[in-house]
Amino acid sequence: MNFTDLGLSADVLRAVADAGYEKPTPIQEQAIPFVLMGRDVLGSAQTGTGKTAGFTLPMIEILAAGRARARMARSLILEPTRELAAQVAENFEIYGKYHKLTKALLIGGVSYGDQDKLLDRGVDVLIATPGRLLDHFERGRILLNDVKILVIDEADRMLDMGFIPDVEKIVRLLPPLRQTLFFSATMPPEIRRLADAFLSNPKEVSVAPPASPAATVTQGLVFVPDRAKREALRRLIGIEQVKNSLIFCNRKRDVDVLFRSLKRHGFNAAALHGDMDQGTRTQTLESFKRGEIQLLVCSDVAARGLDIDDMSHVFNFDVPMHAEDYIHRIGRTGRAGKSGRAFTLATSDDAKYVAAIEALIGKPIPRVVVEGIDMTADAAEDGRGHAAGGRKPRARGHRTREPRPASHRTEQPRAEHPRAEQPRAEQPRAEQPRPSAHQAREPAPVVAPQRRVSPQRESHAASGGPFGHDDPVPAFLLRGRRVAG
Ligand code: AMP
Repeated sequence: MNFTDLGLSADVLRAVADAGYEKPTPIQEQAIPFVLMGRDVLGSAQTGTGKTAGFTLPMIEILAAGRARARMARSLILEPTRELAAQVAENFEIYGKYHKLTKALLIGGVSYGDQDKLLDRGVDVLIATPGRLLDHFERGRILLNDVKILVIDEADRMLDMGFIPDVEKIVRLLPPLRQTLFFSATMPPEIRRLADAFLSNPKEVSVAPPASPAATVTQGLVFVPDRAKREALRRLIGIEQVKNSLIFCNRKRDVDVLFRSLKRHGFNAAALHGDMDQGTRTQTLESFKRGEIQLLVCSDVAARGLDIDDMSHVFNFDVPMHAEDYIHRIGRTGRAGKSGRAFTLATSDDAKYVAAIEALIGKPIPRVVVEGIDMTADAAEDGRGHAAGGRKPRARGHRTREPRPASHRTEQPRAEHPRAEQPRAEQPRAEQPRPSAHQAREPAPVVAPQRRVSPQRESHAASGGPFGHDDPVPAFLLRGRRVAG
C-alpha cells in the first residue's frame, strides 16, 4: 500500500514525501483511513511503529477545514512525558508544513506566560501533559468545550505514571460528541476499562511490538561485579570508539551519579532524567542531537521514544527490569538501516532479568569481556566503606537486587521505571529541580592487573559462564562484527 491510497490530500502527501517516507507503516495503513472517516480508534502500538504520523496526518486533514476561536482548542493530544509531547509537536511542524494550523505545547517546566499568549489566540492543536493542562484549565486560560478530536497517547505509560485520574478529569471536561483516538503499547484490564469508557464503537488496530531488536544492532553483555561497573563502562567506551551514545540507568539518582563520575573522568557527558527542570532537559537534548554532547546518561522515562538519528551506541549501565525496555533502549541505535552497537553491563544479581530478556528476544546476548577488570572488585571494596554510587557495601552473598541500601541519603531512591515510580502529577510544584541529594563519593578506581585472559573467563568458562552460556569474547573482538540479529 502507498500513502496515496490512504485518502490523504496532496499537501499532506507532499509533506510526507519531503520527510522521506516511501510507504506507510502497518499502523498508518490501518489507522489513517478510519481516522479520516471520523471513527474512534483503539490502537495497540508503541513508539517506533510510526503511530504518531498515524494520528497526526489524518488530524491535519480534518483540522484543515475550520478555524480556532480565542482560548478554545479544536483538538487535544495528551502525552505522558514532556519529551513525547515535544516530539508530537515537532511532527505537526513536519507534516503540517503546507498547512496553517496553530498549535500550543503545554508541558511542565516551561513558563506559563508564553503558553498563555498562544492559548489566548485559540489553537487548532493542543499537545499537553495532563498536569499542566489541568493547571491552565483551572487558571481559566483554556476552554475545552470545542475539542472535536482527542488523542490519548501511551495510555499504559499514563497509568504507570499515575496520570489516569488527571486524564479522567480532563475527559470529563470535553464534549461527549467528539472523535477519540486511544493508543497504548499494552492493553492491561485497567487500560481496557478506560478505552471502553472513553471510546465509542472504536475501530481496533494493532501492530505487534517488535519482539526482537533490529538486525542492525550488534549486542553484547558484559558480566561485571557491581563495584566495577563504572570502570567497565569507561573501558568499553574507550574500546568502542563511541561517536554518540545513550547510557541507560534504572534509577534517576544513578543517572546523576554516573554522569558526575563520567565528567570527573573527562568524558563529554550530560544527564537527562525526569527531575531536571524542563529548560535544562530541552537544552541538553538539543546539544546531544547537534553532536555537542557525546554521552547522554538517561532514564527510561526521559528517553522513551526519543528519536535521535544516527546514534552509534547504546549502553545499559543497568539491566532493565522489564524485558521490553531492553528492546526499546537498544532500538535507539541501529535505526534507518544504519548499524549500531548496544552493550549491557550485568552483575550476578541481574541473572533473572537477563534470562527474561533472552527469553523475549529468543536468543542469548553474546557475552563479552572487558579486559583488565578486577572480577573480585566486590570483595576488594567490601572493607572500604561506601563504594560505587555511594552505596554501602553489601554483605557478601546478599543476592537481592531491591531495595538497595540508601540510608546515607536524604532522598528515598525512586525507581525511574514508571511501573515502579510513585504517582506524580506533571505540575509546576513537581517540576522544580530537587535539591541534589547526591553526596556520593567516587569510589577509588578499581585497579586491575592487565591480563590477556580475563578472570571472568577463567572462573566462569568451565561452567559455561555466570549465566550458563558460552565463553565470552573480548569486547574489542566484537568491533566491526555483527553478532546478533
Ligand atoms: P513513532 O512511532 O511515531 O515515534 O515514529 C518512529 C519513527 O518512524 C519516527 O522517526 C518517524 O519519523 C518515522 N516514521 C514514521 N512513519 C514513517 C514511514 N511511513 N516511513 C518511514 N519512517 C517513518
